[in-house]
Amino acid sequence: MQSLPRSAVRLLPGPFLDAQATALDYLLSLDADRLLAPLRREAGLPPVAESYGNWESSGLDGHTIGHALSGAALMSTVTDDPRPMAMVDRLVQGVVECQDALGTGYVGGIPDGVRLWQRVAAGQVKRDSFELGGAWVPWYNLHKLFAGLLDAYRHAGSELALTAVRRLADWWDQVAAGMDDDTHEAMLRTEFGGMCEVLADLADVTGMDRYAALARRFLDQSLLRPLREHRDVLDGMHANTQIAKVVGYQRLGEVARDPGLRDAARFFWQTMTRHRTFSFGGNSVREHLHPRDDFSSALESPEGPETCNTYNMLKLSRTLFLERPDAEVLDHYERATVNHILSSVHPKGGLVYFTPVRPGHYRVVSTPQNCFWCCVGTGLENHAKYGELVYTTEGDDVFVNLFIASRLSRPEQNLVLEQAGTAPYDDEVRLVVRGAPATPMAIHIRVPGWHEGTPHVHINGAPPEGDPAPLTTHGGADGQPLTYVRLERQWREGDTVTMRLRPRISAELLPDGSPWVSFRYGPSVLAAEGDRADLVGLFADDSRMGHVASGPLRPLEHLPVVLARSTSDAAVGVRRLAPDRLAFALDHVDAQAGESITLVPFAGIHDSRYHLYFPLAEPERLQERRAELRAADEATLTLHDRTVDAVAAGEQQPETDHSFEGQDTWSGLTDGLRWRAATGWWSYRLTDPDGTATGLQVIHLSDGGASPTRVLVDGHALGTLTPSAGPEGQELSQVFPLDADRPAGPVEVRFEAVGPATTIRLREVRLMR
Ligand SMILES: [Zn+2]
Repeated sequence: MQSLPRSAVRLLPGPFLDAQATALDYLLSLDADRLLAPLRREAGLPPVAESYGNWESSGLDGHTIGHALSGAALMSTVTDDPRPMAMVDRLVQGVVECQDALGTGYVGGIPDGVRLWQRVAAGQVKRDSFELGGAWVPWYNLHKLFAGLLDAYRHAGSELALTAVRRLADWWDQVAAGMDDDTHEAMLRTEFGGMCEVLADLADVTGMDRYAALARRFLDQSLLRPLREHRDVLDGMHANTQIAKVVGYQRLGEVARDPGLRDAARFFWQTMTRHRTFSFGGNSVREHLHPRDDFSSALESPEGPETCNTYNMLKLSRTLFLERPDAEVLDHYERATVNHILSSVHPKGGLVYFTPVRPGHYRVVSTPQNCFWCCVGTGLENHAKYGELVYTTEGDDVFVNLFIASRLSRPEQNLVLEQAGTAPYDDEVRLVVRGAPATPMAIHIRVPGWHEGTPHVHINGAPPEGDPAPLTTHGGADGQPLTYVRLERQWREGDTVTMRLRPRISAELLPDGSPWVSFRYGPSVLAAEGDRADLVGLFADDSRMGHVASGPLRPLEHLPVVLARSTSDAAVGVRRLAPDRLAFALDHVDAQAGESITLVPFAGIHDSRYHLYFPLAEPERLQERRAELRAADEATLTLHDRTVDAVAAGEQQPETDHSFEGQDTWSGLTDGLRWRAATGWWSYRLTDPDGTATGLQVIHLSDGGASPTRVLVDGHALGTLTPSAGPEGQELSQVFPLDADRPAGPVEVRFEAVGPATTIRLREVRLMR
């Protein structure tokens, strides 16, 4: 399959055009000078505007400008609005001014970046997952600028941007030339974003093998090796770090014609989508991948799948689909797009970071001048991509892959095709030929897996000649075959094709197979709205933890329980309420007296708590199931109520959010459990805003060979953790009482090794009331 130029497709009125327009407004509301400010500071140029706050001035300075460049370049090609192009030009010029001022080819907003890269070049590479040379994920940050500049060239035609990204790559080529392979490989322990991908892209664009060689050094063998052997080692890993690497495997595999890399990428995609993906297309909890057989943390945590992960999974899915049409790949692409991505922009503007799976919880959205999270960055790009796979071609044949209202223009073929209606919001696909080629050609319309029965197609109101319309299959060598209705004829202007859609109602369990059920109508995941009370921080401010929905959790005990013996049995209990609206009653459910459950497309739920998954029970096991829910929830709710603040050790975002500092310290992963240890020390800054904390709970892994570990609070010794032997992976908990007269506010918690050996492996530290 061939992709079309992005400029060939325009969205037409519908939910996707609305989302694109909202995201464009959001993008244009950003101030170019403020985005450029960190780069000017690092280039030694006089300031013209203040840097933005939040993640733009706490270590990840300058990451947003790369996304803004990509987003504006994409928007310039998929809309007729001249403003995104002006934004591209303004940003590229600003970047180049900083690059010229530095004079080495390097440019970026990383604090003290010039000296940082000197340290890295000199081999100061520590073993940590998010800190390199003393900076927070500098490659992750710099990758955004590489990608933004390259996108400004690829999508907006900026030659200046191509020159700039080549100078940047050439700078790195020089630095890397003096770096031995061990040091380079060690550098990749720290999240490095899509560096492999962007360098492969640059090799593709310029035809220069030198960039492919640079990309190859970013492969990270520690993940590639098991993937080549088709081993799933992903339990507990930081999700987006791995997904971005694999997008690189696929891209370099294409550019360097390396089938082994592409095979590893496809295996990764399969393990992610078959075993680790929720019904709406997202994955992970608190940014990390669940153990394949235990998704219980998804039901507890207010931090569900991260939008960035789906952004990268869609990149991977798109390239896999173009390489080899496959129903499974297209189904995932559609599911993640129409549910997770479409739902991640608020109709009034605002982008989503976490989508909690916890029933009855809610999502917070960003505000444009305050929030500069990673998912705001990818959110600036996501909504400009809805048209990228709606149509593909093979020769003169056109394939309609997705049902999104849009217009395709192929001037070289004199073809204009308009698709009215969007599935499943409209019941019918209607294609109108607005411009017709001089010779016969075939239009292929996908028959999706969620379609029930034989598709009924009409051309200008009548069945096509040789009714029923012929079905063709594509792909399927070792994937799932993809079916299309093939309509070949001499098309005339005004010809109209209609295909009645019959979306199937389906149900599926949580990925670990536990009895929690989610419903879909065609491609759309259905959810029930919950209450709208206590939506603390719904529109986030610039605070460090603003991206987490910190309002109270609702108990699981009173959830409606779906009474069914299987998922197919459960799906039977979903009944459409009226033909003119997408609302469904959930029958066969045990709910509170007088409560009826209405399901609607999840993508349309905003400003509300929601239920994506419902507990499932066989009717005679209802009381048992309710007791299970109560028991499972008791600990979670008690802990949530008693928690003042907490840090999951060794997890990137929680640690960064709590001002992690340390020396001779590293994080690791044992049996899917993240931890941090040191031969030196490390510290976090927690917050006790009302001075209500009475104790500090410390959870660590058993480890007979560790050193005793001193715990200090605000510089004073609180106690010592004594290591003890036990089964590998056993968690031990200890609570230290805190001084009752402590003032409210920040609480500095520090861990240090007492002897020469390594400290205990810390899992979590928690201020308790
Ligand atoms: Zn993110």
